[in-house]
Amino acid sequence: MTVLDKALAAYLGFACGDALGATVEFMSPKQIQKRYGVHSEMIGGGWLALEAGQVTDDTQMSLALGQAIIDHRGWNIRAAADNFVAWLNSNPPDVGNTCRRGIVRYRDNGELYGLPRDDDAGNGACMRNLPVALATLTRPDYFEAWSLEQCRITHHNPLSDAATLTLGRIVQHLINGQDIAVCEQEAELLISRYGEFAYSPYPGKASGYIVDTVQTVLHYFSNTDSFESCLIATVNQGGDADTTGALAGMLAGAKYGVEQIPERWLTRLDQQVAAQIRQQAAELTGLAL
Ligand code: MN
Ligand code: MN
Repeated sequence: MTVLDKALAAYLGFACGDALGATVEFMSPKQIQKRYGVHSEMIGGGWLALEAGQVTDDTQMSLALGQAIIDHRGWNIRAAADNFVAWLNSNPPDVGNTCRRGIVRYRDNGELYGLPRDDDAGNGACMRNLPVALATLTRPDYFEAWSLEQCRITHHNPLSDAATLTLGRIVQHLINGQDIAVCEQEAELLISRYGEFAYSPYPGKASGYIVDTVQTVLHYFSNTDSFESCLIATVNQGGDADTTGALAGMLAGAKYGVEQIPERWLTRLDQQVAAQIRQQAAELTGLAL
């Protein structure tokens, strides 16, 4: 697989996880089992009453951020923030509270970040950072600087920052063809700094709290051996299932490639979104190489 193949698989895998997981977002594993047995089909529905294959804020915000990078052939923080405002103004079905607060602050005051807050440790900044990882595949310094700037438009919290950098570096290692051991070292480094991220034994929580999200994603990514089994196991954990599904799909896509993404999911995924992803994956990767 080429770098572009893996970058595309990460982005398509991300959107598939979002669309698959959204059906069971905010449900418990027990509720999911009672209703679906094992949830494994991209059928839409859920609390947002989505169309089958429809994605949510995770993918939409990623596309907004990716387009800002492409339009400016590099980093422009105001362009990123402006695209988030345009997205919010488009009345999307789903906006996280912390994301809304940060975007509204920028829209009303032009402020690109708030003061650090304990309650900014949600997963809304981490979930949308894949375009930055793709555009900076060969530039770890740019990756860190751009990631932190985009995060802090809405989330200013050390756990959110650390998780975003770690998951982004792991997907970069996978796309760059590094050994899985390098990815494990990246996770260990995070845990050595912030012990709460330890995911073995897996505590079994999958809320929108960034610690629960990272634990769920890394646990199922490490303990499954295919794209499909990784995504199904992740979303059936429930909770913030579209976001854990998206992030697990990002890592699993980069590891296993587009060929391993089930055809039934790729054909069901919103085709306008899939087309945007194909274009962005090529252009963002092109900026990096
Ligand atoms: Mn979502
Ligand atoms: Mn979510």
